[in-house]
Amino acid sequence: MTASREIQCPGCGRETLLLREPRYEGFTKVGESLSCASCGHVFASEAEVPFKHRAKIEVFTEDERPKAVKVFGEKENARLCRYCANYVVNPFMQWCGHHKKEVQATDTCHAFKPKPPEAKALL
Ligand SMILES: [Zn+2]
Repeated sequence: MTASREIQCPGCGRETLLLREPRYEGFTKVGESLSCASCGHVFASEAEVPFKHRAKIEVFTEDERPKAVKVFGEKENARLCRYCANYVVNPFMQWCGHHKKEVQATDTCHAFKPKPPEAKALL
């Protein structure tokens, strides 16, 4: 179904047609420019267009869809040695820099210190 293009223009007072042209920012379509085909009167938004036959107008603003929000749950295994700032892994062993002993990635201890965020997370 195509939206009605007939308007009663407040600029020239005529019953005329709506001009609909895509607006681009670079190569991204950012919206539509709406104007009167007779006098060029520009309408700021679809809501301002005085359509002659006010059909049901559905305006989709696809650019404004909320982004999916990621929720990070504090999990039990977040305190594993492998996530600890003191955990050092080298080709020969996994080492705890706090207790100065060999550990397993799945070990846990009371001195758990979260690893600082990865450098890339700051970019
Ligand atoms: Zn006009």
